Amino acid sequence: MDISVIIPLYNESESLPELHAWICRVMKANRFSYEIIFVNDGSTDNSWEVIQRLSKENENVRGIKFRRNYGKSPALYCGFKAAQGDVVITMDADLQDSPDEIPALYKMITEEGYDLVSGYKQKRYDPLTKTIPTKLFNATARKISGVKNLHDFNCGLKAYKKAVVKNIEVYGEMHRYIPYLAKEAGFKKIGEKVVRHQARKYGSTKFGINRFFNGYLDLITLWFLTNFGKKPMHVFGLLGSFVFFIGFIAFLWLIIEKTINLLSGIYGDLLTSHASFFVALTAMILGTQLFLAGFLGDLISRNSDRRNDYLIEEEINL
Ligand code: UDP
Ligand code: MG
Repeated sequence: MDISVIIPLYNESESLPELHAWICRVMKANRFSYEIIFVNDGSTDNSWEVIQRLSKENENVRGIKFRRNYGKSPALYCGFKAAQGDVVITMDADLQDSPDEIPALYKMITEEGYDLVSGYKQKRYDPLTKTIPTKLFNATARKISGVKNLHDFNCGLKAYKKAVVKNIEVYGEMHRYIPYLAKEAGFKKIGEKVVRHQARKYGSTKFGINRFFNGYLDLITLWFLTNFGKKPMHVFGLLGSFVFFIGFIAFLWLIIEKTINLLSGIYGDLLTSHASFFVALTAMILGTQLFLAGFLGDLISRNSDRRNDYLIEEEINL
């Protein structure tokens, strides 16, 4: 099979017939063998009935129905698990992504050797309140992930080599960072293609303003996990030791100074009436806490089922 198209959807029943017809047209014109996997993410409208109907008309249509709304990432995760095509293409259900891009994306993966190609909606039909934060968000994501050539991390339209989707695990709301996940899994050839973007035809967006807050928090998590996930002690331990050391030295200094003063008969204020005493004390306590956090983190990762999860690309005579 050439192509799997994965479409996560939440209450998009009006768009589905049009989207389906459009994809079929493109597939036929290019003689691709294909499947379309609709992942119904707990829609409360009649999206599932529409998918059932489409699957009767077209045997290439497959469907997954969640019992409730879990989010776009879980929907993609299940779609990825089911995909059989050599090239996997994801697109939104709202007709904002154009199926006409599929042939060119397919070529970039199969002929130009890309692992992942992300769409880039250079000209967007979204309100300014969305486009400006999106720019900021992408700049941060580029910086932190080290995937420097992407303008649009969160474009719904993406194409993947099959191996990529079988080796990454999208969860929570991590769909925004799939290129980052792919890079961390060792897929380095990540590219971008300018794609046409259309205004939403039916329904309304499923993500509110908190997408930006969640997006940033997820980015921090990912950064931390990829850098220190398997060795928490290396961050917390070092930081903890450093802070403790500073506190300890300051404490020692205060005590020695006091002792010298006492011996030479100077009875000044009590140590506890100086701010520096409390600063030193706090540093020591904080340092111990940080160190403990690292130690606990290491204990947890030592017991985790995934502590020895490595992605093996090939093996010989095993
Ligand atoms: N979506 C989903 N589950 C959700 C939210 C969204 O499957 O909980 C789907 C939605 O139906 C659409 C795609 O994810 O196909 C992108 O959502 P949307 O168009 O609302 O996002 P935007 O274009 O505003 O970024
Ligand atoms: Mg949309």
